[in-house]
Amino acid sequence: MVRTCDYPGCSNKDVADSPQSFHRFPVTDVALRKLWVLALGIHVDTKVEKIKKLRVCSAHFSDDDFLSTCPGQRQMKKRILKKSAVPAPQVNKTVAYQCSLQSRCSSGGGEIDI
Ligand SMILES: [Zn+2]
Repeated sequence: MVRTCDYPGCSNKDVADSPQSFHRFPVTDVALRKLWVLALGIHVDTKVEKIKKLRVCSAHFSDDDFLSTCPGQRQMKKRILKKSAVPAPQVNKTVAYQCSLQSRCSSGGGEIDI
């Protein structure tokens, strides 16, 4: 069975030729684990046993979240996350947040109740 990324809306697969690396939840660090849970929109009371099985692909981290590889190893596929790395919050939420900042988000829509 091919494992897929557990990030909501992401369908990246953990296959041999995947450009993404897959990362486990930091289950031992409770505070950090909570940040991951929030980032993925998982219920905060989800059991650790379940969380342990989740994988998040590298698409949800920035380059700064990974330990730098040795020079000449740029192609190294298995990237290592920094201990403090947290996945980016869900894109939809980010967009909604930005929209709330920009009052004319849906310009021309005419569906805004004033
Ligand atoms: Zn993913």
